[in-house]
Amino acid sequence: MRSPSSWLAGRGPASPGPDLAGGSTFPGAAIDLIDVSQEFDTGRDLRVAVRHADLHVEPGEFVSIVGPSGCGKSTLLNIVAGFQEPTDGLALVDGDVVDGPGVDRGMVFQQHRLFPWMSVRENVEFGPLMAGRSKRERRAIGDEALELVGLSDVADRAPYELSGGMQQRAAIARALASHPRALLMDEPFSALDALTRERLQDELLAIWRRTGVTILFVTHSVDEAVYLSTRVVVMRAHPGEILLEQETPWRREDDPTHRRSDPRFGALREQLTETLKTTAYDV
Ligand code: ADP
Ligand code: MG
Repeated sequence: MRSPSSWLAGRGPASPGPDLAGGSTFPGAAIDLIDVSQEFDTGRDLRVAVRHADLHVEPGEFVSIVGPSGCGKSTLLNIVAGFQEPTDGLALVDGDVVDGPGVDRGMVFQQHRLFPWMSVRENVEFGPLMAGRSKRERRAIGDEALELVGLSDVADRAPYELSGGMQQRAAIARALASHPRALLMDEPFSALDALTRERLQDELLAIWRRTGVTILFVTHSVDEAVYLSTRVVVMRAHPGEILLEQETPWRREDDPTHRRSDPRFGALREQLTETLKTTAYDV
């Protein structure tokens, strides 16, 4: 296990800068789904949530999964997280078969799921506490994670004292505190207002640049997927299947400031939206 101080060591400055490109090591994990199928027996019928899904995510990649409601996005993420054992096929993290949850994978949900009776810092340091880290180590890990999400100043507040955007930042800090090699994010910004959402998208990109963690990100929003990702995976429903994978022009070292006005952004968003329109009604 990396020590708290070594996790970010040598990974360059917090702010975007060209010197980050290629100058850092990537601690991100590779993720593979190999012919994954998931059926649910509801008692009344057998529901095919995911059928024959194959996916390879490179270490340090940012891959988004988009698709209509019920197409199996959360199911796929839960399988990688180890919450759900697939009916068929395998999920691998760095070549090892996933057989349960682990600290190498941090999860962030749409709702923050912070413990309401703990301060932000206690929430963030809870994982390291459970992992048996000393008080001094927990403090260092907590400081680092809170600094990464810009919450150092509100560390001692209760979650309910924070805005929705800050609560999601705290949830991200909690996931980062275990020094995961993959962040698994299930519609983490869907409940936020538009401005806050865009701000958190940029903050997430900065965290990704700084840590090199692999990100698998589920969203309803084509706009969000195209903005954030190096690759977008489109799923269709009934049954849940991966329909296509689309690379974006963006790379980890890129500064995203002018991305939305880049003609390639609009073109890709339009193309994927059209694809989704045809699949959403193809039941
Ligand atoms: P998404 O996240 O894309 O909206 P989900 O992965 O949550 O989709 O669900 C995919 C399909 O599997 C849906 O039809 C859903 O109703 C079904 N499903 C998910 N979890 C369960 C479960 N525990 N039991 C029965 N059906 C489920
Ligand atoms: Mg879902």
